[in-house]
Amino acid sequence: MSSSFDVIILNAGMANASLTAELAPQRKVLLLEVEDEAGRHATGRSAAMFFESYGNATVCALTRASRAFLEHPPAGFADAPLMTPRAAMFVADAQGLPRLEAMLSAPGAAPTLRRLTPAAAIERVPILRPEWLAGAALDESGCDTDVAAIHQGYLRSARRAGAQLVLGARETMLAHEAGCWVVRSRVGEFGAPVLVNSTGAWADAGSRVGPECRRSACNPSAAPRSRYPRPRGTSGAGRS
Ligand SMILES: Cc1cc2nc3c(=O)[nH]c(=O)nc-3n(C[C@H](O)[C@H](O)[C@H](O)COP(=O)(O)OP(=O)(O)OC[C@H]3O[C@@H](n4cnc5c(N)ncnc54)[C@H](O)[C@@H]3O)c2cc1C
Repeated sequence: MSSSFDVIILNAGMANASLTAELAPQRKVLLLEVEDEAGRHATGRSAAMFFESYGNATVCALTRASRAFLEHPPAGFADAPLMTPRAAMFVADAQGLPRLEAMLSAPGAAPTLRRLTPAAAIERVPILRPEWLAGAALDESGCDTDVAAIHQGYLRSARRAGAQLVLGARETMLAHEAGCWVVRSRVGEFGAPVLVNSTGAWADAGSRVGPECRRSACNPSAAPRSRYPRPRGTSGAGRS
């Protein structure tokens, strides 16, 4: 085995750059990325919007939990503000109206989301067609985020805390041998008792590269999940 770690994390996109930065002060962490640069896929394509009213209840809870950090990041995390205020309007035609109503009345709906009459929506956005528009909602608490600054801030924090970032790890093969996860790739062989495989939209493909792997493989038998507390405002529902 070329290198041993406490945790190997596959994917240097946004999700795992932040996870690596959180774990690195307490664990020896390897962040392994298949591309030659970090953040090329979903992270590099984000529309960069931050809205507490957007997404399912879990996503909204995570968004709410992120606000304080993004508004007041630790000193040295980034050179410029990570968030810039921006309102968002949600619009629906007659067919989409039930979904808009469900969004407005959901138990965890953001208190900042409010109904607009079609006339009020058109007053704000005159290009909307009155014969199409059946309903609208406005959230003025949203922001544009500086995705690149957040991503780089997390990668910098992870490196400062001792995490190792390895790029270009193509031809990844995963195996579970003698109680340890082994990752073999073009750039070397790495082992750890804990593997985090959350390769975004590639998670299913990633889970097929080795015989012993499961989707989103965080091996509970190798490391009790209780070691890493669940983020505030989330539940275990939907974990796979
Ligand atoms: C068009 C678009 C618009 C979006 N707009 C917004 C928005 O406005 N606001 C918002 O909050 N979110 C938005 N999102 C969602 C947000 O971008 C994603 O939730 C986030 O970037 C996901 O990060 P990730 O790290 O999970 O995935 P990714 O950034 O896709 O990272 C996955 C990484 O895993 C790597 N990988 C794959 N296989 C392996 C392997 N075997 N070994 C190692 N690495 C591997 C890939 O190369 C990639 O770098 C948008 C997404 C898209 C696509």
